Amino acid sequence: MTQLIDGKAFAEKLRRDITEQTRHLADQGIIPGLAVVLVGEDPASQVYVRNKGKQAKAAGFKSVEHRLPETTSQADLLALIDQLNRDNSIHGILVQLPVPAHIDEKAVINAIATEKDVDGFSLLNVGRLGVGESSLVPCTPLGCTMLLKDYFNDDLSGKHAVIIGRSNIVGKPMAHLLLAENCTVTIAHSRTKDLPALCRRADIVVAAVGRPEMVKGDWIAQGAVVIDVGINRVIRDGKPKLVGDVDFADVQGIAGAITPVPGGVGPMTIACLLYNTLKACQQLQLNG
Ligand code: NAP
Repeated sequence: MTQLIDGKAFAEKLRRDITEQTRHLADQGIIPGLAVVLVGEDPASQVYVRNKGKQAKAAGFKSVEHRLPETTSQADLLALIDQLNRDNSIHGILVQLPVPAHIDEKAVINAIATEKDVDGFSLLNVGRLGVGESSLVPCTPLGCTMLLKDYFNDDLSGKHAVIIGRSNIVGKPMAHLLLAENCTVTIAHSRTKDLPALCRRADIVVAAVGRPEMVKGDWIAQGAVVIDVGINRVIRDGKPKLVGDVDFADVQGIAGAITPVPGGVGPMTIACLLYNTLKACQQLQLNG
């Protein structure tokens, strides 16, 4: 019997806790502020930005959206980030990626003040995570780690985790987070040899590949826990459908537990953005 790890319910609970803590801060006259910057008209990015703003407001945050035209120059974008860095009512800044090709993504990410970098993508936050110092951690792997800790009652020590994917957004930070939880971590990627055999040795498989239903039932050890980060839009029986990187039907009855797609890792990402913004706000208050 495979247990479903309900990311939607967990994210709702996390957002309730954040809303409650925000109420306490508001009693002291402090309102967490999140600024989201979108350059261009990418439809998927517009939906993400709208949802981030909506959920930030629902938690009691000040939510600011800056929608800039596709033709915005890098200098103008950096000037806006500088202004937000100096704005005391803003504690979290997120530039929705990808930015248009004429803008240097790295320059933009690293222009965000480290203490307001709620995506956790800046070099200093990445470095701090790497050396095990307190930092703002990328939202998706943070959400995956929360789900795993909850499932294993806070004790991941000694578990062998295989992470499929080595992106800076998911795979690599995931590896650092699980290492910090005392897992034995293997990172797999497109050049890994005999991936199914490697996965079969894992207590935890995290799939962050971007390939629909790649991970099959015979890749998974009986009782292993599977975290499916993938979000893939496919056509099934003539209709659009969202599927993960794991063949959900195939691993049923083999995995001990699995995050469904949708309703697993996805809802955790924005909840963790709120979590990071609240943390940044509390930290900035502490540091005066
Ligand atoms: P990415 O940057 O494209 O990285 C994909 C990784 O998978 C790469 O490291 C790549 O290896 C590896 N890979 C590709 N084909 C492989 C294969 N056949 N065998 C083994 N490894 C393979 O993707 P990403 O940004 O990490 O995202 C991964 C998935 O997560 C996507 O479906 C994305 O939509 C989803 N996602 C979801 C959320 C959420 O909120 N739930 C957030 C972010 C991403 P190489 O490095 O060797 O190329």
